[in-house]
Amino acid sequence: MGELECVVSKANFSTWFQNTSVRDEKNGIVFINVPNSFTKEWLKNKYNKFILGALRKTDPLIKDIEYTICDKINPIPLKKSQRYYSLNNSSDDAQLEFNEINQTKESLNPRYDFDNFVVGAFNELAHAAAVAVTKNPGTLYNPLFIYGGVGLGKTHLLQAAGNAMKKNNPNFKIKYITSEKFANGIVESIRNNTTHTFKESFKKCDFLMMDDVQFLAGKTKTREEFFHIFNTLYEDNKQIIFSSDRPPRSIPDLEERLKSRFEGGMMADISEPEYESRVAILKNKAQTKNVDLPNETIEYIASMVKSNIRELEGALNFLSAQFKLLGKTLSFKETQDIFEKKFLPKKKITFNKIVKTVADFYETNEQKLFKKSRKKEDVLPRQIAMFLLREDFNASYPYIGQRFSGRDHTTIIYAYEKINKNMKSDSQIENDIKAIRNILYGSQ
Ligand code: ADP
Ligand code: MG
Repeated sequence: MGELECVVSKANFSTWFQNTSVRDEKNGIVFINVPNSFTKEWLKNKYNKFILGALRKTDPLIKDIEYTICDKINPIPLKKSQRYYSLNNSSDDAQLEFNEINQTKESLNPRYDFDNFVVGAFNELAHAAAVAVTKNPGTLYNPLFIYGGVGLGKTHLLQAAGNAMKKNNPNFKIKYITSEKFANGIVESIRNNTTHTFKESFKKCDFLMMDDVQFLAGKTKTREEFFHIFNTLYEDNKQIIFSSDRPPRSIPDLEERLKSRFEGGMMADISEPEYESRVAILKNKAQTKNVDLPNETIEYIASMVKSNIRELEGALNFLSAQFKLLGKTLSFKETQDIFEKKFLPKKKITFNKIVKTVADFYETNEQKLFKKSRKKEDVLPRQIAMFLLREDFNASYPYIGQRFSGRDHTTIIYAYEKINKNMKSDSQIENDIKAIRNILYGSQ
């Protein structure tokens, strides 16, 4: 991996390879976990060749890389015999980083505190409750149950509470654990005959945070042990905070007694941040990162990335990497172009939807796009549809050819290159494509 760091600038290296790990290798394909869609696009588009080259040096049989978005990055534990591990494991420095990332999954990460947590209408209640329990642990809201969707700040809030607690009461025994880690711990302790010690380490806590309790669903033995720990702590007035991606009632396969325990204290939800909060979060993070972004850009990102703070951060990291790389801020126009091209959500868009949208835009019948007609009014929309499939969705040329009535892949390459070229010289085509992209992605 040393080579990688040589071809990639230091700033870019740490931005894009942090939280990235190799998950698996199968039949010459290496699977890499990445934390968000921005990193995925960025690695795929910019560094694929380099990563592939570096991997091939360790194993010439490697053919390709697949990037998977995974918000739980669990680097494969380092074993001597293992060829791959975290991509940022290229020097002693990086090794440290790797350990740190790994460690944060189990304990407190000082990166999360109340000071860098932006409060808006969407998370006000959860934030207030978390602050309150650090002032009056074990008495006011016990347990505190925080719930909300992925990437909305649950872990941040739990960790911030733990960090605040640690600062105010250095002697407190504070523990943060995800329910998955807890379940694994139980299983392991049963195997090693250390269940008693494992459980005791929790019963001695003064302040326990358990993240993502929805993963307790289906794990009967774990829940049984957990229930006893909970009761002990609760009776001793020790503070417990839970998080979950949904309210207790909606967690399937969870017995009534646990649901009512979860609901027995205070419940607070975090919803999706509204526009003003998204702007505030972006401004806050840009400032922390020392990136100077035009207001227009911040407002634009806030209007494009709506549902998830992790994605907002990803967008900002992207711009910050550009900033460091070029030594200048991207103009609003440059940012917009990049976003429109690469980062718009692509999930719900199907092949048929693209063809239909293009056909509708040019007021023609979509069937004509599949036919062999060479009429100009059919050729342009057909080629634009092909271009979008390739450019925005990375569809392979043979696949596109096959979907367009079995055309040869060279025809598709020709179409792609033609539109790509004409777009730059013909503003009509450029505007058409912009408008079509707006229809396709704008409402999402
Ligand atoms: P969750 O646990 O709900 O999936 P996280 O707590 O991991 O979400 O948050 C995702 C990312 O967004 C983290 O990097 C976190 O620091 C950041 N984040 C979340 N909420 C806020 C907020 N209110 N202010 C600032 N950053 C936030
Ligand atoms: Mg979390």
